[in-house]
Amino acid sequence: MTPQEQDLTTITPTRLWVPKHVLITRAASELPHTAEIVRRCEAAGVEDIRILSGNALTGLRGATERETYASAKNTLAVVVAPPSALKPQPIPPSADWRIDLAKGCPAHCQYCYLAGSLQGPPVTRVYANLDDVLDGVRTHAGRGTVTSGTIERGGEGTTFEMSCYTDPLGIENVTGSLAAAISRVGSGEFGEDVQLRFTTKFDDVGELVTLDHGGRTRVRFSVNAAEVANRFEGGTARMPARLTALRAVAAAGYRVGLTIAPIMPIPGWREQYGALLDDVAAALDGIDALDLTAEIITHRFTPASKEVLLGWYPRTKLEMDEDLRSQKRSKFGGVKYVYPKQTMSEMRTWFVEELERRVPAARLLYWT
Ligand code: SF4
Repeated sequence: MTPQEQDLTTITPTRLWVPKHVLITRAASELPHTAEIVRRCEAAGVEDIRILSGNALTGLRGATERETYASAKNTLAVVVAPPSALKPQPIPPSADWRIDLAKGCPAHCQYCYLAGSLQGPPVTRVYANLDDVLDGVRTHAGRGTVTSGTIERGGEGTTFEMSCYTDPLGIENVTGSLAAAISRVGSGEFGEDVQLRFTTKFDDVGELVTLDHGGRTRVRFSVNAAEVANRFEGGTARMPARLTALRAVAAAGYRVGLTIAPIMPIPGWREQYGALLDDVAAALDGIDALDLTAEIITHRFTPASKEVLLGWYPRTKLEMDEDLRSQKRSKFGGVKYVYPKQTMSEMRTWFVEELERRVPAARLLYWT
């Protein structure tokens, strides 16, 4: 058995999310993908699967903020994506377009990127009208302007990011949406020149490695220094498990990537991130025809995300101190708090040099 074959036969996920409650709206109950979601939920052992009499999700709030959060994170809602959610949007610098298989995530990262951008209790809503979601790939293939047409990434074809509002692998065992998307794009149904991409903190890749992906999906793993991941990324697969999964998908011929994020200048950050990069290099040792990218994102927060996160994680040790940060204004006047210029510059220089030295196969797509 070659090391690659061995990789494909020994994949056991270390972290699987099984919701306690599954709520299916009336409109969603009539769609074919819902049958697959129900099949997966039943196989995972979910006992409370309910079809609602209407299309509104109600009764999601508990007596306290804490109860609302806990119950929402244990609930999968199966809904029909409204037309406004179906129109692909440009998503620089990651991809030409964003498409969403779901909105919401069951994990408990104390810096969660979704804080401030989701309305109401953080229930995970998976879209039952998967055909409509994927139709965005058909209508927007050949029309990208973010990565398409660039020297660095034009060869990828039109790119579609699937992890803007969810962790698609984190909910895959109870949805099947990711396998369907990868297989259909892999089969060439939407043309030769399109590529899906997503990033994850989970490791349930046993089904993914069996799919005919056609080289049209890039699987990126969100990685971080052990101290950051262990302290702030609740409900996700631990870092060694993510790296094992990275090796497995790379061995299965997927294009792969690292989302090194959110990086933080914790005490000893050079040593901690150096160890991470060395672990990545070891995990990918000996993989044939490796296609590996890296995206590096520093920690940032907004006034709205800070407020939501402090509601969800009141005792967090995550540093969100405006006085220690620099303000950055977006085109639309919003404020982000990022690390000061000198810290950013030191981290950037270090990461660019050390990535090249320790993981020379990695192609850095962007730093932000
Ligand atoms: S995995 Fe991503 S989306 Fe899910 S809780 Fe963590 S940061 Fe939020």
